[in-house]
Amino acid sequence: MSWFLPRVLAYVVMMLGGGLLGRIAGTPFHMSTSGMVVGAGMGVALAVLFDGLRGRRLLVWLRGSLQGPAPRDTGFWGELGYRVERAVRSREMVAVQEKARLAQFLSGIEASPNGVMLLNANDQIDWCNHLAAEHFGLDPVRDRSQHLTNLVRAPSFVAYLRARQFEQPVVFPSPGGRGTLSVLIRGYGDGLKLVLSQDITERERAETMRRDFVANVSHEMRTPLTVLSGFIETLVNLPLTEVERKRVLSLMGQQTARMQTLVSDLLTLAQLEGSPRPPSDRWVDVDKLMQHAEGDARTLSRERHQLVFESLAPAQLAGAEGELLSALTNLVTNAIRYTPDGGRVEVRWQPRADGSAEFIVKDSGIGIEKEHLPRLTERFYRVDGSRSRETGGTGLGLSIVKHVIQRHGGELDVQSEPGKGSEFRLIFPSLRVRVGQAAPVPVPQAVGAR
Ligand code: ADP
Repeated sequence: MSWFLPRVLAYVVMMLGGGLLGRIAGTPFHMSTSGMVVGAGMGVALAVLFDGLRGRRLLVWLRGSLQGPAPRDTGFWGELGYRVERAVRSREMVAVQEKARLAQFLSGIEASPNGVMLLNANDQIDWCNHLAAEHFGLDPVRDRSQHLTNLVRAPSFVAYLRARQFEQPVVFPSPGGRGTLSVLIRGYGDGLKLVLSQDITERERAETMRRDFVANVSHEMRTPLTVLSGFIETLVNLPLTEVERKRVLSLMGQQTARMQTLVSDLLTLAQLEGSPRPPSDRWVDVDKLMQHAEGDARTLSRERHQLVFESLAPAQLAGAEGELLSALTNLVTNAIRYTPDGGRVEVRWQPRADGSAEFIVKDSGIGIEKEHLPRLTERFYRVDGSRSRETGGTGLGLSIVKHVIQRHGGELDVQSEPGKGSEFRLIFPSLRVRVGQAAPVPVPQAVGAR
């Protein structure tokens, strides 16, 4: 109230001053009393006008952007201006802090591995992060305030949103058909909704692969098991001659061997997937690998093919012996199995100009149609199922090869022409290749070689 007394005093002084002046001015005309009243009135009016002008300055500032300081003044108007400015500044500060907190909060949601979207009570988009925009194919700015169901029309999603039963997520193909989305909605506030989306394409693919894998393994096991049980029934129920019995037992032996190969390949794959990367400081002699693969090839071919094994430079490879041998023998045995009698199989170790090196396994066999090449390394993928099974194949060999070469940082390259033959290359990076003679090493045992 420090302004009150001076203010009253100012008005009183103006009134008295005006009255005095009015009286002096009115005396010569014998109108001293009325002159005093008019003068006092004019004094008060002047004070009000002056006050109005000061108040107007403040009003102009208040109506503006409030950016600069409030008009400096004394007394009532000075204090009013000062207090209003202080209140405005502190509000501004709170707003800035709130804004910074909101920005921090939103950037936290942006960093979420899920898509996050906020819907109002009418299912219009209030806000969404970039991941949600990507999942639903939206523009986070342009599509704000749009009805979500106008933009995302997948029937299962629209039904889910309308049903308001949000206990379980809904799964549907992502708009644009690029994958699969899982969306969960949570209600909050007064009819508001939080929409959480997740791209589960990879998970679905892995799940499908797992299911296919189990189905394939079951199928592969069932065939020999059915044959075996048929033979057992025959042995139990039919009086067989010694020759017939030996034949049945030999066929049973073949089926058992087939199952053993399958189980062994499955174990190899599991081992490759579950074990750490092969060491980069354990050196394996390439010539030993070649000798071992050649021994296996000659046993399998039984001189039905022309076999050429050639190492263009003594060298060593850094990695897991058993895995490397498994990859090489898988390629070599494939070359023999898919090359008709009289054909040629060449296996070559060849350093390359950039320090890397490769095993080349080339055959003059049946070859592979172009459209099969990208799928050859898939588990159980076979171009010709019956030929693969007849020759003891499991459909897992190239899958093992791909795993091994990837674990060694290299790559598998396949060139093939139907009727002319195939060429498989195992290319190793320079880091894992050392050219030169090695100290003698024991012959390694193959992992999963057939
Ligand atoms: P499989 O046990 O059936 O041989 P792989 O994974 O080793 O399984 O090979 C996958 C498929 O690739 C084979 O079924 C075969 O059709 C084809 N394939 C592999 N190597 C050769 C080759 N050298 N020549 C022709 N076809 C081949």
